[in-house]
Amino acid sequence: MKVIHNVLTTIMMIFVTALVWGVISNPSQITEIDDELTVEVQEEAVMTKVRIAKIEALNEEADLNPIGRTDSWGWPTVGYRVTAFYRSSSHTGIDIANQRGTPVFASNIGTVVEMRRLTSGYGRYILIDHNNGYWTLYAHLQEFSSEIEIGSAVSRGQVIGYIGCTGTCTGPHLHFEIRRGCGEFRCHVDPWPYLR
Ligand SMILES: [Zn+2]
Repeated sequence: MKVIHNVLTTIMMIFVTALVWGVISNPSQITEIDDELTVEVQEEAVMTKVRIAKIEALNEEADLNPIGRTDSWGWPTVGYRVTAFYRSSSHTGIDIANQRGTPVFASNIGTVVEMRRLTSGYGRYILIDHNNGYWTLYAHLQEFSSEIEIGSAVSRGQVIGYIGCTGTCTGPHLHFEIRRGCGEFRCHVDPWPYLR
């Protein structure tokens, strides 16, 4: 029995020695693991960079496209002399009369998407996308503010232009429109409930 035990112990010892020696004598295995870890660390670093870049891009986009509240809209100029209310087909906004040069304010935070100088109709007008499903339009302006251009982010109450009588107009006033669902003419809604 003792002989068998000794033989088995010896076999075990040889086996364990061979195993340990195999690992020690084969450092390429360790190098491989090391390389894999290095690649993983490098990939992780790249992924982190990608994540940071994505977050920065999103932040930049948010700066360019500030999202306006849908439940709060500012009065778009100085004075409350409303000379024409909204009539779905014949008048697509409200008219607020005041002297030429009276400042016109962005009614909500948003992005300027159109600034045009028409000889009839709206005359000089600005269209703002509030990035919340609503757009506002400011027409018959005497001039645009020099502070804005297409793509400008505007804050609520920021001066965007001045009251005038450009386009089809009989006296200086601001024609103010709200468009819901799209920035096009066909999407106009009555601005009155939003301004109250
Ligand atoms: Zn009007």
